[in-house]
Amino acid sequence: MKVFICFPPLNCEKGFPTLGQNRQFQYFKEPTYIYPVVPALAASLLKKNGYSVKWIDCIAENISYDQFLEMIKEEKPDIIAMETKTPVIKQEWKIINDLKRISQGKWKLITVFFGDHVTALPEESFENCDVDFILTGGDYDFLLLNLCEVIKNKRPFSELEAGIFFREDNAIKNTGKFKLDHDLNSLPFIDRDLTKWWLYAYKNGNYRRTPGTYIMSGRDCWWGKCTFCSWPQLYPQFRVRKVENVLDEIEYLVNNYPIKEIMDDTGTFPCGEWLIKFCKGMISRGLNKKVNLDCNMRFGAVDYEGYKLMKKAGFRFLLFGLESANQRTLDRINKNLKVETIIESCRLARKAGLYPHITIMFGYPWESFEDAKKTLELGKWLLKKDYAYTMQATIVIPYPGTPLFEECRKKDLLYTLDWSDYDMKKPVMKLSFPPSLINKLVQEMYKVSFNPEFILRKIISIRDGADIKYFWRAFLKVLGHILDFKGA
Ligand code: SF4
Repeated sequence: MKVFICFPPLNCEKGFPTLGQNRQFQYFKEPTYIYPVVPALAASLLKKNGYSVKWIDCIAENISYDQFLEMIKEEKPDIIAMETKTPVIKQEWKIINDLKRISQGKWKLITVFFGDHVTALPEESFENCDVDFILTGGDYDFLLLNLCEVIKNKRPFSELEAGIFFREDNAIKNTGKFKLDHDLNSLPFIDRDLTKWWLYAYKNGNYRRTPGTYIMSGRDCWWGKCTFCSWPQLYPQFRVRKVENVLDEIEYLVNNYPIKEIMDDTGTFPCGEWLIKFCKGMISRGLNKKVNLDCNMRFGAVDYEGYKLMKKAGFRFLLFGLESANQRTLDRINKNLKVETIIESCRLARKAGLYPHITIMFGYPWESFEDAKKTLELGKWLLKKDYAYTMQATIVIPYPGTPLFEECRKKDLLYTLDWSDYDMKKPVMKLSFPPSLINKLVQEMYKVSFNPEFILRKIISIRDGADIKYFWRAFLKVLGHILDFKGA
C-alpha cells in the first residue's frame, strides 16, 4: 500500500506558511522551515511497518500546484494524509476536492486530515470537502498506522482506534474521544532520509549553526493551560520519552548526519529530575562537545544552577513565551507567571551563557494601547539590557478549540469567523484601539534591531564566523518580519 504524507502548495502571495509545531500560525516573507516532527514520525512508523511511504513537502521543495497534481496522477497513491491548520483549512478543502476529482474513475484514493484545527472541528471538514478520514488528537502517527492496517487488511471500522472520524452509510461517524495511551518510546527515530532532513536544515531562524534539525522529547507541554495555545487540545496530558531514548536519538543524529544544532520542539522542555539526568547524559556521552541544543522553556521553571548545567550540556537557545508585560493579561491567559519572574529568569539564563529568545504578543481584546506599549517597552528593555538575546513579536490569534476562542465567541469579541483571516496578518479579536496600530507595535518591536546599543552588544558578542552568518540571517529575518506586518 502506497501512502503519501503531503504538505501541498499553499497561497504563496501571503508568504511561506509555517505548519508543524508552529503553535501560532504565520506566513513568513523570509521562509522558515520547521521540521514537522509528528508527521515525520508518522511516515517513519509506516515505513517501519512495511508501507511504501513518500514524503512530499511542496512548500519547502517549492513544488507548484500543477506539478503536485501531476505527481499524484502519475504515482496514484492509495492514501494521502495532510496536516491542517486553521488559516489554510479552506485551501486544503479545495485541494482534497481536486485530488478526489483527478482520481475519480482512475484509482481509489483515500484522503486523511490531521492536526489542531480538525481536532477542534472535525465535522466541519466533512461538510466542506470530500475528505474520507480525520484523525483527532496529537498521536496521529499511531492513528495513521492503525487506519492503514484496518484498510489494508479490510478489517471493520470497529477496529479503528479512538479519535478517528469517517464517513459510513451517508453519515459521519467516529470512534469516540481520542486517547493518548501510546508509548512514545516505542516509536522509531525519525527516518531523516525518507523525510528529507535537508529541507529543514538551513532556513530556520532558531539555528546559529547549520545544518540543524528537530526532535521532540515530549508531547507536548507539562503546563498546557495557556488559554490561547492551540496544542493542549492535541495533547491534554503530558508524556515524555525516556532520557536514554532521547540521548540515543541525538547520538544517532550526530554520528550519521552533519548536524550541528538540534531544536527540541516539545511545547515546554521537561524539567526537574528528567532535565538533570538528560544534561548529565549529554555530558557523559560527550554529545555536548558535538552539538548545540535549543528548546522551548517556561520562565521560572529552571534556576541558575539548572541553567548552568544546561549550558554545560550544550544548550544554547531557549525560547520563552513572554506574551505580555501586564500581570492582568498573564493571569487572564492562565500563563501562571509573574512579570518579575520574566525579568529574573531571563537575566539568569543569559548570565549562565544561554541565549534567551522571547516571544511577545499584541492584540488581547482587554488590553488598552497603553498596556500593549508596556509589553513593547519591556521587550525592548530586555533586549537592550542583553537579558534577552533575540525576540519574536506576533499578533495573538484565538484558534478554534482554545479557551480563548470560546471566550471571544461567547462575548462577541471576534471580527470574523473566516478562517483564512486567522493568519496573523491582522487582529481577529475586537480591540479597544484601531487594529492597524497592532501591526505598528509589532514593527516597532522588530526595529529594536536597529538600535545602536543593541547592535553594539551583538558586535561585541561575535565569537566566530558562525556568529557573523547567524546575525546576517537574523538581520534578513527582521527585515522580513517588518514586511510580514506591513499591511493591516
Ligand atoms: S507554556 Fe503555554 S503557550 Fe507554551 S506550549 Fe505550554 S500551554 Fe502552550
